[in-house]
Amino acid sequence: MDDFLPFTRPDIDEATIAEVAAVLRSGWLTTGPRCRELEAQLSVRAGGRPVRLASSATAALEFALRIAGVGGGDEVITTALTWVATANAILAVGATPVFVDIDPRTRLLDLQRVPAAITPRTKAILPVDLAGLPLDREALYELAQRYGLRVIEDAAQAQGAQWQGRELGSFGDLTVFSFHPNKNITTGEGGCLVMNTAEEARAFELWRLQGVERAPDGTYDCVLPGGKANLTDIAAAIGLGQLRRLDELNARRRVLAQRYFACWPHAELGPHWQLPPADFTNSNWHMFQVLLPAAQASQRPALLAQLKELGIGAGVHYPAVHTLSLYRSQGWQPTDLPHTLDVAARILTLPLFPAMPDAAVERVCAALVTATQTWRAA
Ligand SMILES: *Cc1c(COP(=O)(O)O)cnc(C)c1O
Repeated sequence: MDDFLPFTRPDIDEATIAEVAAVLRSGWLTTGPRCRELEAQLSVRAGGRPVRLASSATAALEFALRIAGVGGGDEVITTALTWVATANAILAVGATPVFVDIDPRTRLLDLQRVPAAITPRTKAILPVDLAGLPLDREALYELAQRYGLRVIEDAAQAQGAQWQGRELGSFGDLTVFSFHPNKNITTGEGGCLVMNTAEEARAFELWRLQGVERAPDGTYDCVLPGGKANLTDIAAAIGLGQLRRLDELNARRRVLAQRYFACWPHAELGPHWQLPPADFTNSNWHMFQVLLPAAQASQRPALLAQLKELGIGAGVHYPAVHTLSLYRSQGWQPTDLPHTLDVAARILTLPLFPAMPDAAVERVCAALVTATQTWRAA
């Protein structure tokens, strides 16, 4: 269908496309001046803290854990209402993810439940700012300080989001952003880590590219078993064009989110749907996620199919990580995290992206009313 409305779509302007073409013509495609420029500009937004790019946020998460000294036998406290990358990165460094339940209102890690999950092996907390809604940074860092834990912020979805007037990444411990095409700004694929010191940035560079240290005379040494996760200048050129527009793109998302609240068909849909927290100062509105009525959770697949027939792409972000085979095999039971289980069963991501016209919000709301008519007849 021509006017199919996806749940998200990247927005690349012509100036950016021209800059990518310029890189292709330049003869230098891999990591080079465009990457260094993007790191410098991301660092400006991060209040001067060092920032390094990687080929994905997943790689950046893994390097962040290594830089924080997390390894075999350690435990990392995190949420299960996230993309599997969050937990997989913890396993990748040989540590164990310890899932703590969410606050069902914010859908974020419930910090009040964290102390009970801390053991002598706990090294770090790895929270996720799901949908770009920031977790309470004051409470987070108060807790981390009290228990002597490192913090790796999985802010993959939260570029440009703020906590009390300060942009995420401009304060705190280690912060990861993703530039996957579904995120608020993209490099095609890519991610970055904001760090505290030049030493941490140096370690990131080693983990990113084969652990190779180059001497001024052109010789090199290998000092740790790094991988291959550098970004290309082609990707960085996309990122530079996107970063210029980050505030504009996020402002447009905020307008559309407000429109969902204004247009929401409360009367037709009834009182049992749950809208996201109406935060128009901190959140970057990476996603607009509603919860189906608990009684209708099992209808979600049918609803997704019907919305698709009506030309609307909705999504499920995310199935609870602890219910997936790998984590089940490590001993996690679905009912270990009752709020996560409930929210994951009911959550639905509705279309929201900067190029979406205002009227598309009404179209989505009308489609929800149409698609759920049979529920009300029953
Ligand atoms: C997208 C995402 C990641 C992974 O990002 P990639 O760049 O695809 O590796 C990690 N965590 C969360 C919460 C994400 O949304």
